[in-house]
Amino acid sequence: MSEPYVPYHKPGTITMLAGPCSIESEEQFDAVAACLEGLGLSWIRGGAFKPRTSPYSFQGLGEEGVRIMRTAADAHHLQCITEVVDTAHVQYVHDNVDALQIGTRNMANFELLKKVADVTEESHKPVLFKRGMAATIDEWLSAVEYLTQKGNPNMMLCERGIRTFENATRFTLDISAVPVVHQRSMFPICVDVSHPAGQTALIPSLAKAAIAAGADSLMIEVHPDPKNAKSDAAQQLTLPQFEELMGELREVAQTVGKTIV
Ligand code: PEP
Ligand code: MN
Repeated sequence: MSEPYVPYHKPGTITMLAGPCSIESEEQFDAVAACLEGLGLSWIRGGAFKPRTSPYSFQGLGEEGVRIMRTAADAHHLQCITEVVDTAHVQYVHDNVDALQIGTRNMANFELLKKVADVTEESHKPVLFKRGMAATIDEWLSAVEYLTQKGNPNMMLCERGIRTFENATRFTLDISAVPVVHQRSMFPICVDVSHPAGQTALIPSLAKAAIAAGADSLMIEVHPDPKNAKSDAAQQLTLPQFEELMGELREVAQTVGKTIV
């Protein structure tokens, strides 16, 4: 039996999953890791295998990205989470990071979900399971059972915005998903505020709303030089912007009796 992993979520805390959209280089990723460590946070995110809408967009550094992530996370005493997009690399990613992410485009990729269930059967490594952008909450809560069917209980659901007729934002953040998931599921819920926002100006309001609604975790994209980011440039906060926002979010968290870790 392997040791249990530190779970994503402890009562009374909000787990911050911040980091760049994509892992681009050692320098870029280390700069973010140093910032997060300095803020007393415990996790870093970043994409190594990117599920891009266009095949001509940056696809991620793959295994090299995972190596960069592991090195920086260890150097800065952080745990790390990255997305898996293909059954072929689930084992490699599992063996090198602390939690696996399944993105919106793969919520209904049931073969991938079964593979993640198999690979985490013994380790019980945490899995962040994003809602499909066109999935109902019932479909999402049904799909998560593919991940738990081999016995891994360490799931966190993640609302990241859904497609609606509204196009003022990149996706419509379904804030109702937070209380509905709490009503219908035992799993904690993360709110990814970056992907629905699509622009930095909306991030503070959405993050505060998520905390007020009862989110157990937040995901926010942060980059040392967003203008030159290889993916999602418009929505990533600079490190100073993130530091300032963290101060505001800690105050909001305090009013609901939680601390951000
Ligand atoms: C991400 O978090 O890196 C990502 C690609 O998000 P989503 O699957 O929500 O689009
Ligand atoms: Mn992104």
